Amino acid sequence: MCGIVAYIGPKQAYPILIKGLQRLEYRGYDSAGVALLNDELRLFKTKGKVSKLKEFLNGQHLPGTIGIAHTRWATHGEPNQINAHPHFSQSKSLAIIHNGIIENYALIKEELIKRGYKFESDTDTEVLVNLIEDIRNNEGVLLDEAVRLALNQVVGAYAIVVLSKDHPNTLIAARKGSPLVIGIGKDDYHVASDATPIIEYTKDVVYLEDEEVAIITRNQELKIKSIKNKDKTPYIQQLEWNLAELEKGGYEHFMLKEINEQARSIRDSMRGRLKAREGIVALGGVKEYEQKILKANRIIIVACGTSWHAGLVGEYLFEDLARIPVEVEYASEFRYRNPIINENDVIIAISQSGETADTLAAIELAKKKGATILGICNVVGSSIPRATHAGSYTHAGPEIGVASTKAFTAQVTILTLMALRMAQMKGTIPRTRFMHLLHSLDILPDKVEEMLEDDSVVRLIAEEFKDAGNFLYLGRGYNFPVALEGALKLKEISYIHAEGYPAAEMKHGPIALIDENMPVVVISPYVGIYDKVVSNIREVKARNGKVIAIVTKGDTTVKDIADYVIEIPKTEEILVPILATIPLQKLAYYIAILRGCNVDQPRNLAKSVTVE
Ligand code: GLU
Repeated sequence: MCGIVAYIGPKQAYPILIKGLQRLEYRGYDSAGVALLNDELRLFKTKGKVSKLKEFLNGQHLPGTIGIAHTRWATHGEPNQINAHPHFSQSKSLAIIHNGIIENYALIKEELIKRGYKFESDTDTEVLVNLIEDIRNNEGVLLDEAVRLALNQVVGAYAIVVLSKDHPNTLIAARKGSPLVIGIGKDDYHVASDATPIIEYTKDVVYLEDEEVAIITRNQELKIKSIKNKDKTPYIQQLEWNLAELEKGGYEHFMLKEINEQARSIRDSMRGRLKAREGIVALGGVKEYEQKILKANRIIIVACGTSWHAGLVGEYLFEDLARIPVEVEYASEFRYRNPIINENDVIIAISQSGETADTLAAIELAKKKGATILGICNVVGSSIPRATHAGSYTHAGPEIGVASTKAFTAQVTILTLMALRMAQMKGTIPRTRFMHLLHSLDILPDKVEEMLEDDSVVRLIAEEFKDAGNFLYLGRGYNFPVALEGALKLKEISYIHAEGYPAAEMKHGPIALIDENMPVVVISPYVGIYDKVVSNIREVKARNGKVIAIVTKGDTTVKDIADYVIEIPKTEEILVPILATIPLQKLAYYIAILRGCNVDQPRNLAKSVTVE
């Protein structure tokens, strides 16, 4: 969470920094700020979004070819102007931006107060910058050394950039647990939380590793060392994404663009991995570990939020197709509940950003116990792919909207490919069925495309229910996770309370909520235990609930009972979650728009959850 941008080079820093912040705003947006060094070190901050900061600084002369900037997602102290980053050290000679949490900040703060330091903000960040200043002054060391020594005292997670009034040609950056990328230009350097602000300037980047400190000096080579003072050789990688993918491309919101991109993103997830006619499913990244998965006692999927829902679909897929036992765990619970894991377990960690703090911690724990760890992530070069033994990128392209859409369908696509491959190797499904499923998967993007062409029904339903106070989402089997995901999408962006339930569980509680004011979305395609779901719809109707049903094109039974139906193309049961989720994303989107909500940056949320 929170976005970090920094620049050093021959150009004016401010326009680069503000544009970078706007690209990173999906990471946090409760306040923003910038520090620029020219003759003096100046600091500007505002509460609110980056646009507020931009407005506030409009027309001001903001010289400086070195600077740092931040968009915050508060963890310590309310989101106001004082707590916004950058933070000055007491002497105002250092400025810092920080992403993460310094867990032992209270202890350090107490010590510093005893030594005469005064604090303006409630943040842990201000404690860190004063600790650096204190070490520099007392131990008479250079700035990078002071940063390094301070970081040795710190417990927690950080990505920081430090700017010093006395060093107009140097930025010091470091990370542990929170991401940081350094872009290497012809004659300049860019630093950011992810590559999105960097892409338009250079494709050469170095992803800083945990506990590394970078000394970034104008017109000099990048120097990296560990916080234990070991020299490191920077490993330069090429970025794959391009600038057009980071723009709205004519859409009003990133979220709508990303929903509408799904035919393409699903195709990209399968590219080179599925050769339906030849009966080949090959996930290059996990090939070496296929035998391990086959022999595994069980697969444990760890994830958070939407990725956890993708994991639940994965459970149905692996158990149904490949007969491998699967457990799906919230990473945040898994990591703290002393789970029983051994070397015969395979962990699949799912995260769009590849930076989710809880998922990373779950990986580390399982690794220590000897399990094999695979990752399914979208952001290339992010922390999770580097912490796992192997894995597959989803290749969905950058997802900027905070509510995840195309990353979800891409994750489910990868899980489907994996499960099919395991089923093929284990011989758990007949060859004819296997070939048929490959073909159905191959043509799935065409069906997505067809479905995305016309959303008039979804818009109409959104109009009808935009003022509802609650929603219930029901599904069974493969579509139970879809119900959870549909409800989550609506909550996230429209702030309507929504719950997802297995349809049959309704009668054990939620049925008490049903009356003529309760919209109930039922995922009821003509697959699996269709008749049972139809009965559940009748139960809702018998209590005057309003039913919005997702049905297979041509269905007449549900059409006769439900108040509204949204049709999806006919496909195999195992592939329905991908198709059925898309209209639910759109329903949430249109309801949120009609309620005047900011769908790309919903309140209190941030993408890339790098705090636990
Ligand atoms: N802990 C810092 C604060 O509350 C940084 C939070 C963040 O990562 O956005 O200001």
